[in-house]
Amino acid sequence: MDELKQIAKKIKDSDAVLIGASNGLSITEGLHLFADNQAFEDLFGDIKKKYGLRCILQGMSAQWPTEEEKWGFWSRLIHHYCGKYQESPVMSDLKEIVDGKDYFIITTNGECHFELSGFSPEKVYEVEGNWLTMQCACACHDTLYPSLDPAEKMAGAEKDGRVLSAMVPRCPKCGGPMQIHMETDQNFIPETKGRQRFEAFLEQYHGEKLVVLELGIGWRNQLIKAPLMRLVEREPNAAYVTINLGEVYITDNIKEKSFGLDGYLGEILSELKKECENYNTRSSRYQEKVTSCIKKQTKKRCCIPFSRLFLKFQMLFDPYRSTFCRFGRM
Ligand SMILES: [Zn+2]
Repeated sequence: MDELKQIAKKIKDSDAVLIGASNGLSITEGLHLFADNQAFEDLFGDIKKKYGLRCILQGMSAQWPTEEEKWGFWSRLIHHYCGKYQESPVMSDLKEIVDGKDYFIITTNGECHFELSGFSPEKVYEVEGNWLTMQCACACHDTLYPSLDPAEKMAGAEKDGRVLSAMVPRCPKCGGPMQIHMETDQNFIPETKGRQRFEAFLEQYHGEKLVVLELGIGWRNQLIKAPLMRLVEREPNAAYVTINLGEVYITDNIKEKSFGLDGYLGEILSELKKECENYNTRSSRYQEKVTSCIKKQTKKRCCIPFSRLFLKFQMLFDPYRSTFCRFGRM
């Protein structure tokens, strides 16, 4: 597909890549927050039956009767989708695509699959928080605490959707309940550091060749998609690439510097990765030719004057100047 070749060229010629990702990427990796599908049945069948839970998202924002049940749900979720997570092909392809480029990731996904796949945590801004940190449920202070280890321990001891009371996390300041750092209520502590790093990235690449690569974000998304399109509009050298299944939306004012790909994210990223590799191979072959050409030119320029100089130097001190000259020129 010619369009993929053009996108690969844009990415490889860019100064940096800004990745925007939402639910479509998670679904490609097998995590569907909104679906009452087989994966939900397999993981939460008992909890679904007991509480009438219809999807993961509902469980994330549920008012659980007890802390033991709340952490029963969360620890099972975190253990399954974070603790046991193996880097997916879509993440491997994405890493290859941005290889050698500076990048930044802005996402509403909270499952930390970017970090768990080897992307730098310093280069990820999780707008709505993430599953691997927790906070005081009443936000008595704004420190975030790691949640993976406690969640793994709780998951190991969980029984019938409940964890042991002694394992329930408590706020170290007020002694009250803790909650996963996701924007599920008004007590959510904003991800200030991530936002600051994101703003610093935008400032650093202001006016530069920036490729915005948007993955699996629906057209109604106002949290990431709308701001990214406005960014592309005001950045003169930015390009916009949006990949989504069934819903590709690009505003008219940025159409000329945009690419919209409608299809399965996994398949498109796999093809795009190949095009990036082809582009790298073509570039390195071209670079080899240029380097070899420069070397030949340099050799000619250096050797000729040096040999002449050497000859003249020898002639000055050689008592048999004429003889030397005769042999020297052979
Ligand atoms: Zn507290």
